[in-house]
This record gives sequence, structure tokens and C-alpha cells, in this order.
Amino acid sequence: MSDTITQDIVKFRPLQPGEDAQFCDLVHLVKRSFNTLKEVGSQNDMDNSHMLSIIEQKMCPDDRKVWSRDLERQGGKATFNRLMEWMSVEMKSRMRATAPLRSSSNSLRKVNHLQAQGGEDTKQTNHRCWLCRNSTHWPDQCPKFAALSIDDRLKKAKENHVCFSCLKRAGRDHRVANCTRRQQCTIEENGAQCNQFHHILLHKSKAIRITTASTAEASSALLPIITANIHGQDGIQKRANVLFDTGAQVSLIRNNTVLTLGLKGKDTSMTISKVGGDEEFMQTKVYRVPVESSDDDRRYSIKAIGMPSISKEVTAVQMSEITELLGLKNEKLRRGKGQVDLLIGIDHAHMHTGESKQAGQLVARSTPLGWVVFGGSPRGNAGNQSHTSCKV
Ligand SMILES: [Zn+2]
Ligand SMILES: [Zn+2]
Ligand SMILES: [Zn+2]
Repeated sequence: MSDTITQDIVKFRPLQPGEDAQFCDLVHLVKRSFNTLKEVGSQNDMDNSHMLSIIEQKMCPDDRKVWSRDLERQGGKATFNRLMEWMSVEMKSRMRATAPLRSSSNSLRKVNHLQAQGGEDTKQTNHRCWLCRNSTHWPDQCPKFAALSIDDRLKKAKENHVCFSCLKRAGRDHRVANCTRRQQCTIEENGAQCNQFHHILLHKSKAIRITTASTAEASSALLPIITANIHGQDGIQKRANVLFDTGAQVSLIRNNTVLTLGLKGKDTSMTISKVGGDEEFMQTKVYRVPVESSDDDRRYSIKAIGMPSISKEVTAVQMSEITELLGLKNEKLRRGKGQVDLLIGIDHAHMHTGESKQAGQLVARSTPLGWVVFGGSPRGNAGNQSHTSCKV
């Protein structure tokens, strides 16, 4: 079967200079043949140097020159895939170049307009790199483009009507939606792969706020901290200090706690915005943390990102007065001291909700992990703990 397919290419009449339509025929034939072989798993019958040279011999000498110049510019050796890619691009630009001859006067005028602007020839619009206006490289290889800030890259890409998948100029038949190089962005951030279908050079990182709400609070205010059980590998458990932080977009776990529990995480990276507006990029891991209320056996899985430190020490607070004020004498309020092990952010919104009670500035809430107290402390300064930005 492979033979009959490749024979069609072998028998293809060698191209003469200027035979653009035939060039397109050849490209289609090669593509079709390759796809057919790929379906039956025999793509190696085409993806080899023998076939590569057969196809090269079908092109006219001028075509071969352009192809080898392209190879020189980009470096590396000729492969079947590169040839296929080059032929597809070449075909598109030839179709574009010859289009006005066949279509309405409307597009003719457009072409003239472009010519007048460029001052040179119709090739003007076919530069590989629309930014540098030359053909020594593709836009996704363009050092000038990569050197721009992400906001400038997005701006330029929009202004130049660029396909967000491959960074080449988009057109009537080429958009992000149907681009042959369309693929999900591979950048991982904040514990998840980006869900956009754009080129990684157009990926704008989403810096994460982690500590705003807690740091904004007066140092005398009581932070919503609760003691809960965190489970690790091989039945290891730890009584942990859990901080509820509705000002944090993600949840965090202290790296030492991770080590103690032997939790296994997945590599990730994140950009965090620190107090003062600075942004920092860091490599870390994301964990699934099983957390259990001390009151019952209900277990919750918290997706949390590893951090060297979440807060300064939390000091012990006399709870009896507080529980009395809030009318929670019969409830257990578990509030420990020491470092915060786990911060539950607003990404686990359900963990923050529940029945609440209030007495002056003090609030108590019945969260899934149990009652937690926060707000202004009864005598103004009893809390005495401070919470600072994440140390990275
Ligand atoms: Zn360029
Ligand atoms: Zn594209
Ligand atoms: Zn992305």
C-alpha cells in the first residue's frame, strides 16, 4: 500500500518555473499521502531522506534555492516535516500573491494600496516576520518580539491581526480557531495549566494576591485561625494551624509541614504579588492536602501551594472571655499557637461559610472545620499576633 501511495509522488511531473498551481497540487498530494500513511501507522515510509530528496527533485531549481535558503537561515538539517511545513507556507503565500488576478477589482485595489504603501513589490505583505518586515525568521522565532514586554506583545499582535496560536498573520482562512498549530498553552501557573489556546509568548501571567486581607488587618485583630488535623502519607497526622484568608486567591501550605507529612506534590510555578506591588516568580509544588475537623471525621481536600513560610508565629489567646462574649461556651473553639501550616484561600470558598455570631467587633463562624473566631479582640490588644507577607 505504501508503494502505491509514494508512487503517485514519484510519478508527479517535475515543476517548471512559475507553475504555482502545480506547486499547490504537489503540496496537496504530499500532504494527502502523508496523512493516509499516518492513519495506518506507516508514516515512516514518507518521513525519510529518500522521500525528502524525491520531493525536492520535483521542485524547480528556484524553489529548491528558496527552500535551502530557508534551511540555512533557521539552522538544523532538512527533514520531511520541515519540508512539508515550508511547502505549506510557500503555497499559502503563492495563493495570496496570485489571488488578485482571479478575483474582483475590489481586492485588486487593496493590493495596489498595499504596494503604494510599501513602495516595493507585492512581496511586501508576505514577509515572514511582520514585525521586522523581513523573511529571515518566523514571528515565533523573532528575538525582537520576544524582547517586548507581554503587554506590548499583545498590543502588537492585535494591531497586526496576528493568529494568536502561531503568531503568523491571520487571514480569511487562518484564525486561532482553525490554525493548524492551535494547541493549549503549556504554561503552568498557580497549580494549573493555562486553559487558553494562545502561543506561550502571548501568555500573560496572573500574579496572585496571597496576603492582602490578613496584612491589612490591624495587628490587634484576631485572625481566623483554627486547629485541625492534616493527614499525610502512611497514616501520619499532624495537628495544624489553619488560617482562613478570604483575601488570598489561592491556598498555601508550609513546606515544613509538607515534609513532616510526606505529602507528594506536582511541580508548578506561580507569580505572586508581594506587598508593595513587586511581583515574584517562583517554582514550587502543588499538593492535595486532606484536612479533618477535630470535632468529627469529615475530611476535606484542599489544593494548596507549597511556601517556605506563611506567617510569623501566632501567639496563644485566652479564649474563655471570647467564648463567653459570643455565647459559645458549650462549643469547642480550637485555636493553637505557632506557625500557620495551612492557609485556606478564597479558592475553597465553601470552607469559609457557615452560621455566624457577632459580639461587637468579634465574629465567630461555624466553618466545616469547626468554630473559628476573628475580628477586633475584646480588650483591643489581647490577640497580639502579627501576620506578614509570605516569605519567599
Ligand atoms: Zn522579527
Ligand atoms: Zn496560526
Ligand atoms: Zn497561557
